[in-house]
Amino acid sequence: MTCLKGNRVTTLYPQNLKCAICGAVAEYTQIGSTSTFGSPDLDTRPPEMRRSTMFAWVRRCPECGYCASDIGQATHRAAALVRSPEYARQLADATYPELANSFMCKALIEEQSEDLAAAAWSLIHAAWACDDAERDGPARACRSKAVDMVGKALDSGQRIADQEGAQTAIQVDLLRRAGRLDEASELIWRQRPGIGEDIILKVLAFQERLIERGDLSCHTIAEALADD
Ligand SMILES: [Zn+2]
Repeated sequence: MTCLKGNRVTTLYPQNLKCAICGAVAEYTQIGSTSTFGSPDLDTRPPEMRRSTMFAWVRRCPECGYCASDIGQATHRAAALVRSPEYARQLADATYPELANSFMCKALIEEQSEDLAAAAWSLIHAAWACDDAERDGPARACRSKAVDMVGKALDSGQRIADQEGAQTAIQVDLLRRAGRLDEASELIWRQRPGIGEDIILKVLAFQERLIERGDLSCHTIAEALADD
């Protein structure tokens, strides 16, 4: 399948893959290539076309419900988790859209294997899936879980972004959009003295204005840089 938008292209193709847990072979979508044009959101969500390829970032086995980016690999512990009632509940949680549940199940597996940074990103992706389904409450719940996981990742010495300032900017946006405005303000206040990058400082100043207005909605990095 090829999606055309202007002169930009995303190439998707089907691929048969075998689940490492139950052995079921199913067809999944593989992203051949994609491009982006425009500004990422404040939480780094990419613009189109990459934005619309999110459904292919996680694969869910139709037989056993294993959710992973690489369905062909699994640890023994992951296999046990996938068969647990906790996992089954998350997989079928009607509070969330199906794609968000896939990302949240992927996060459970990553958390179990102590890749807390990966789990945080999967929870952020779950929030984006809720955004696309226009499920505001569940989106806030995912961001709240995501920012708590970011905290756990940082506490255990893992990084969620290369730059220190970028990590703070992502945490602030998650807190703001989760409606945890006091915590977002406090984090800016605490971290700002250690941040040198001009772009990050502009983003944080923009976040402060959004927090003052009680604005919980999505904004882009370009907006932050244009707003003085
Ligand atoms: Zn399976």
